[in-house]
Amino acid sequence: MVYKTDYHMHSTFSDGRSAPEDYVVSAITAGLSEIGFSEHLTLFKDLEDWNMNPVNTSPYINHIENLRKQFKNIKIKIGLEVDFFEGKEYEIFDFLRPLPLDYIIGSVHYLGEKTVDFGPEFYEGKNIDRLFEAYIHSVAAATASGLFDIIGHCDLIRIYGFRPSSDLEPLYRMLAKTMKIHDVAFELNTNGRNRPLADFYPDRKFLHIFREEHVPVCVNSDAHMPSRVGQYFDEAYELLRYIGFTEMAVFDKRIRHMVPF
Ligand SMILES: [Zn+2]
Ligand SMILES: [Zn+2]
Repeated sequence: MVYKTDYHMHSTFSDGRSAPEDYVVSAITAGLSEIGFSEHLTLFKDLEDWNMNPVNTSPYINHIENLRKQFKNIKIKIGLEVDFFEGKEYEIFDFLRPLPLDYIIGSVHYLGEKTVDFGPEFYEGKNIDRLFEAYIHSVAAATASGLFDIIGHCDLIRIYGFRPSSDLEPLYRMLAKTMKIHDVAFELNTNGRNRPLADFYPDRKFLHIFREEHVPVCVNSDAHMPSRVGQYFDEAYELLRYIGFTEMAVFDKRIRHMVPF
């Protein structure tokens, strides 16, 4: 049996629909061996309703630690999905340093003052080539910051299906090389299938680049409700196998191990 993990899910501690325990039950039913929570943490912006209030970080961690004691037949990890802001690396580092986390997902949701995933209006009237370039460069800066273990949905900028006219391969190649150099994993995020894009992140056309550059991979659902834990995973693993991946990254107290699948 494939050792399956799902490290990207949101409970009511941020913008998920259910309490963490409901996701654990769902994960056991889905046959996962290991799961991890990754609530949204966004420093330096006004608190939005999709984010966990930073003062709730300790109660959140305590809650997940208690779940570990309650559920013995599945491994439960503690993570965060943290927004990256260039120029704020030291402040983010200071906030994260004392936390007893198993992994940290670094994500770019903001380009400037706006998030790229809160409606197609963001894209209208803009140069799509430049948006893609700016987005991927911001993700590469997040990768090189040393703050994160996993990069979340590395081409979220595809969410509404806008396509640039230029060749994107060099951008993905640069990103994959940066991930390898800084020893950061990428995720095959299956939640894009539920968004207007209707496909996984990253673009399957460029998955071979991550393989060629030997970037470690995780498969994550980015579930915001228990029924989506482990969603589309059979297809995701099949896709990775087809590309040539043979092992996946698991994390424990921010140390990466590789497990064959
Ligand atoms: Zn995200
Ligand atoms: Zn997420």
